[in-house]
Amino acid sequence: MIPAQFDYARPGSLAEAVQALAGGGDDAKVIAGGQSLLPLLRLRLAYPSLLVDIGGLDSLRCVRNDGDALVIGAMTTHYSLTRDPLIRDHCGLITAAAATVADPAVRHRGTIGGSLAHGDPAGDLPAVMAALDATLLVTGPGGEREIAAADFFVDYLTNSLAPGEILTAIRVPKLGPGWGYRYEKFQPTAQAWAIVGVAALVRRENGHVAQARIGLTNMGTVPVRAHAAEAAAAGAAASREALAAAAEHADEGSAPPSDLRASAEYRRHLARVLTGRALAGAAGIG
Ligand SMILES: Cc1cc2nc3c(=O)[nH]c(=O)nc-3n(C[C@H](O)[C@H](O)[C@H](O)COP(=O)(O)OP(=O)(O)OC[C@H]3O[C@@H](n4cnc5c(N)ncnc54)[C@H](O)[C@@H]3O)c2cc1C
Repeated sequence: MIPAQFDYARPGSLAEAVQALAGGGDDAKVIAGGQSLLPLLRLRLAYPSLLVDIGGLDSLRCVRNDGDALVIGAMTTHYSLTRDPLIRDHCGLITAAAATVADPAVRHRGTIGGSLAHGDPAGDLPAVMAALDATLLVTGPGGEREIAAADFFVDYLTNSLAPGEILTAIRVPKLGPGWGYRYEKFQPTAQAWAIVGVAALVRRENGHVAQARIGLTNMGTVPVRAHAAEAAAAGAAASREALAAAAEHADEGSAPPSDLRASAEYRRHLARVLTGRALAGAAGIG
């Protein structure tokens, strides 16, 4: 299908982009890599009056050190996430998860900012950002502000950006010594969306799990932190049996959808199994 008519702006600076977006009213939308938005336009599920193309804002394509964190520009593509040495060395969970997103063509155009702003609970990066306790940096008509990943995702395809605000970057705490990670994704075919995904981080100390953080993909309308499984894993022996027992709590507090691909009950089962594998992998025993 052919999209409905829209106006198009390609600003040369962030300030111009914010001005164009704010001036476009409620129906104006940002377009980044277009990998989620263009299909919606073609199906006429979205029909913005104005598209503000931020593809020319090179300042949003960056990965830089910021003390004990990394700052990743919103226009950084999935492909760049998989190749960046700073991300690999300090936040390897992102490298691992980004490599599972779609196919090379989508990874070369799709961006981390678009993936998070789109807020699809089946997307891989939202749960990863929840597990990493990332902070989202946004700029709008009222200036700059920061939003914790836990507060950014509000509902299905709905985020907490105010009208006219643009997501500019994501600040991710570096994983220090002792931390391991694993992203487990169950998908029907290669290069497909997750039926369920699990992002796990484990800090080991003296053969035990000192701390665990777990984000679940596609187990609700927003990415879910598996707090009960995290609490059960903390202090447990770093053994397959102990971590599998902790993973039995993975689906607590989630509300997975039932759809043509999987029932809610099957997703709950997958969440428990994949969490066991992800925790073991993150603890270095899987
Ligand atoms: C065939 C196919 C398979 C896919 N498989 C997967 C998969 O397995 N896993 C996965 O995670 N994703 C998958 N995706 C989605 C892909 O990751 C997209 O790249 C991503 O969801 C959107 O990024 P984008 O830059 O293309 O955003 P766009 O499509 O340009 O924008 C998406 C939404 O975010 C908003 N937006 C974009 N950037 C900003 C910003 N900086 N500030 C404010 N709002 C912004 C737009 O207004 C729009 O509403 C798939 C896509 C396709 C086409």
